[in-house]
Amino acid sequence: MCKMKHSKNNILQTALHNFELAAKHLNLDEAIRRKVLGPKEKIEIALAPVLPGGKLTNINAFIVRHNDALGPAKGGIRMTPDVSLDDITGLAMEMTWKTSLIGVPFGGGKSGICFDPAILSPEEKQLIIRSFTRAARRHIGPETYIPAPDMGTNEMDMAHIRDCISLSEGTSITNGCFVTGKPVILGGIVGRREATGKGVVYTIQVMCEKLGLDITDMSVVLQGFGNVGSTTAAEIVKSGAKIIAVADISGGIVNTNGLDIESLLQYVRKTGVVKDFEKATQIDKDRIFEIDCDILIPAAAGSQITIENVNKINAKIIAEGANAPTTPQADDILNERGIPVIPDILCNAGGVFVSYLEYTQETQREQMTLAQVEHRLAERMKNRFNEVYSFAREKGLTMREAAMDMAVGKVVEAVFARGLLM
Ligand code: NAD
Repeated sequence: MCKMKHSKNNILQTALHNFELAAKHLNLDEAIRRKVLGPKEKIEIALAPVLPGGKLTNINAFIVRHNDALGPAKGGIRMTPDVSLDDITGLAMEMTWKTSLIGVPFGGGKSGICFDPAILSPEEKQLIIRSFTRAARRHIGPETYIPAPDMGTNEMDMAHIRDCISLSEGTSITNGCFVTGKPVILGGIVGRREATGKGVVYTIQVMCEKLGLDITDMSVVLQGFGNVGSTTAAEIVKSGAKIIAVADISGGIVNTNGLDIESLLQYVRKTGVVKDFEKATQIDKDRIFEIDCDILIPAAAGSQITIENVNKINAKIIAEGANAPTTPQADDILNERGIPVIPDILCNAGGVFVSYLEYTQETQREQMTLAQVEHRLAERMKNRFNEVYSFAREKGLTMREAAMDMAVGKVVEAVFARGLLM
């Protein structure tokens, strides 16, 4: 299934580029630069589950624990047909900076399962997830690596991971939090599914205030309508903005008067995709960035805003719901053109922040209310946004540079404080 070890996308190169800029700003010497950059552990796993019907299937899987100076590695499980070890390494690095920036006691990790979930029945997917969990068992744990949902995985997959681990322990509950993003009935936290999208919208609201823009006048274009895209859509229309175009893997839809998001959510629940939604014009998915708008939100795969399409973008704000959606060359052009970007490690950090609340809830065995979760999420996202924004203004940096300098600086401080250079 997975032919490429090195993907054609450049998530790893983007992560390395962004780190090198921060290392330069922070004046890190070679030894500390290498210590902070080098992944702590990279694991490749060959899975061979027997799927229903008796077919033995070979699947590559990866786990990367990038840096754990601030705490156990945290980061989602990506299940896509072309995910590579390089992608997972780049995404694990991003998690190190994201957890540091948003201020949760975790390091960065990520895992990948190289398979297309869209062609699997629920039973087949469960089998693959359980096969991955058994094979990866000794790398997963509250003190080592705590997975969560990412592209292609969801809360049911997290339920199966949790169940598989408690079965292996011979217990009903696990001692501590092994996985976040679980269903509430199994120790998950209310509001986790919506947390990333809500966090994206909080950062957009504050950015609009800073730029003197009224969010109720804003038109929005969205790439991706999965967990992050659909929850962002639902939230941003509540704040009064109008979504005029959406694309997913199936195609794109446009309605400059505003898409009816409630109907679109229902439609996607039924069909799984946005294509052929009735009350809109159909476009090719790759033309989504050509639609003029005030706010552009990439919320799908990495390396989507590139040198090829960046000059077709006409937006006032770009909010990175996805991880690493902008290549460094495209980022430079956006900067030259004066289009501000809310960087991924800030913009989409709401998910990992609420995962942290789930982790503490599970340790304390006490359920938080939705109001408590939402209050903590809004406060943290807005405060962090303001800190990054002020730092960027003070130092004459882009928001991405400011966020990276703050995040990497904290990891370096932790490395020194622990004496990890010895
Ligand atoms: P998902 O699998 O739920 O949804 C992905 C969406 O992207 C789908 O609608 C899919 O059709 C679409 N898509 C994929 N390739 C596309 C393409 N080439 N063009 C247009 N659309 C395309 O995934 P998700 O959990 O929503 O994650 C989306 C992004 O957000 C990823 O970059 C992920 O790493 C990041 N992210 C997710 C979370 C989370 O909590 N799930 C948290 C932080 C960041």
